[in-house]
Amino acid sequence: MEIRIDRERCLGAGMCALTAPEVFDQDTEGGRVLLLDTDPPPARSLAIRRAAYACPSGAITVTEPRPASGEPAELRGHHIRASETFDCQ
Ligand code: SF4
Repeated sequence: MEIRIDRERCLGAGMCALTAPEVFDQDTEGGRVLLLDTDPPPARSLAIRRAAYACPSGAITVTEPRPASGEPAELRGHHIRASETFDCQ
């Protein structure tokens, strides 16, 4: 699982830190997202995907390999595309 954060997009809403506190935190100035764990164990995958989905600004992108095709599935924000990419734009 690859996790990318975009601190410029982050609104400081804190949904990520509430949803996956082992992986995400917020800084003390503005509450922008911090990535605590760049290589989390598989047991945290669901919480991380939920955090990316819950983020109102699309500041979290999660990419996971799809075993069937080998192509990565990307999740970010609230919308689902046919290619299994989630994007809030
Ligand atoms: S949920 Fe999104 S907007 Fe809110 S702190 Fe986390 S990354 Fe930033």
